[in-house]
Amino acid sequence: MGKIPIAIAKGDGIGPEIMRACLFILQEAGAALDYKEIEIGQAVYLRGIKTGIDPSVWDILKDCRAFLKAPITTPQGGGYKSLNVTIRTTLGLFANVRPCVSYFPYINTKHPDMDVVIIRENEEDLYCGIEYQQTPDVCESLKLISRSGSEKIIRFAFEFAKLQNRKKVTCFTKDNILKISDGMFHKVFDEIAKEYPDIINDHLIVDIGTAKISDTPEDFDIVVMPNLYGDIVSDIAAQITGSVGLCGSANIGVKGSMFEAVHGSAPTIANQDIANPSGLLHATILMLIHIAQSGTANLIHNAWLKTIEEGIHTQDIFNKKTSKKCVGTQEFAKSIVSNLGKEPTNLSKVHHTNPQEPYKHKPKVYPALKRELVGVDITIFSTGNLNRFFDKVSHASEASLHLKFISNRGVIIWPHLHPDTSLSDQYRIRFLSDDLKAIAQDVIIKLLQDFDRVGLDVIKTENLYTLDGLPKFSSVDI
Ligand code: NAD
Repeated sequence: MGKIPIAIAKGDGIGPEIMRACLFILQEAGAALDYKEIEIGQAVYLRGIKTGIDPSVWDILKDCRAFLKAPITTPQGGGYKSLNVTIRTTLGLFANVRPCVSYFPYINTKHPDMDVVIIRENEEDLYCGIEYQQTPDVCESLKLISRSGSEKIIRFAFEFAKLQNRKKVTCFTKDNILKISDGMFHKVFDEIAKEYPDIINDHLIVDIGTAKISDTPEDFDIVVMPNLYGDIVSDIAAQITGSVGLCGSANIGVKGSMFEAVHGSAPTIANQDIANPSGLLHATILMLIHIAQSGTANLIHNAWLKTIEEGIHTQDIFNKKTSKKCVGTQEFAKSIVSNLGKEPTNLSKVHHTNPQEPYKHKPKVYPALKRELVGVDITIFSTGNLNRFFDKVSHASEASLHLKFISNRGVIIWPHLHPDTSLSDQYRIRFLSDDLKAIAQDVIIKLLQDFDRVGLDVIKTENLYTLDGLPKFSSVDI
């Protein structure tokens, strides 16, 4: 069998030592891989490249079947962009798969029967990183959720469940508050779930869902959710298996793929040979399965399970009751190598199979919707007297639009102001047409000219649309 080209990056903090351990295990297990090492992360950031990745590296990644990446450190401040987000979005790695399994009684955990896969949307949500501060008081971040992106990740979750013979897919959103964005994710989940009648589906609001997954993870099988919730929930799920250092993740795209530990670069324990390489090793196993080297994946995974069963543990999972020996990163790797060819006695041995065919997303075709402009929200910066501000607004007008309300941080303050409502320096003024009748763009332009005439400081506008006659903007009653 020819060697498969894969890119590797040794990363920052504990990255180089856990990568060294994984490469040693891969070599001893006879993995047929041709490594192309690339440099990303802190050193590149500090050379002045704000993305942490030299543009020439994309060509190497393009020519590799997979990318095995150790964690990197994103420098604080200074306008540096998260490299993880850049890689995931540039390579179109839309699905982040994070299996979180407990190994009781060998690794101490309050959750002996845990076997959950968190499937996190990887390209959208607040991770688009679109943020503004337009006034001294208020910052904003845009949360973008698309129907196409939601469909891609949700279908992936159900296909993953089918291939892995899993029984249930649960969706987490916060659509009791974010009725339009998370509401879309939830709605698409309900639609796609109907196409998989053999798989149980359910939905939980993310706050109670996170509480339940922390308390009774054995009730969950596969959990799919938007990006930010997935980031948080997967760290919790990984940690409660016994250590965040145990879990690996796969970032899957239509063409590319990247494999990494769930945890970060843990700089406080770097260069001490105490980090647990298991997270990156589990990512390596996911990579071997993905590139159809399941035989090697099984060899390594079973040797790892055997080592865990023998009580040879790194410091993060060492427990006097169940562990026999506390070892460093490289000695742990050597113990795994000495167990290559062996299988666990009590923990379930694994038998991964090669993927039947790469995941192909076939997007649904949705009927075109009639889209009509019916109003505008105008955001204003104001710190002066409130009555004078209301007076100025009342003098700005456009015949086909009516002033509906003025709000501050989402709370209505005109026509009625509650005396206890606290105010920021940013006001949103809503104008709507009568009966949501369609208006032309120039109506809004004229209204803005009027705002300028009366001396209102406009920060931004959001056009308000109906789709097939239904208003698609948040109402005031949330
Ligand atoms: P972290 O996951 O790096 O570490 C948190 C703590 O978890 C550590 O102090 C350590 O006690 C423990 N831990 C983590 N991995 C371990 C391991 N393999 N073995 C034993 N213990 C382990 O989170 P953090 O401290 O918030 O972030 C540190 C840096 O990592 C930041 O710069 C952050 O931006 C970056 N980060 C990178 C990635 C990535 O590259 N994928 C992911 C998350 C965070």
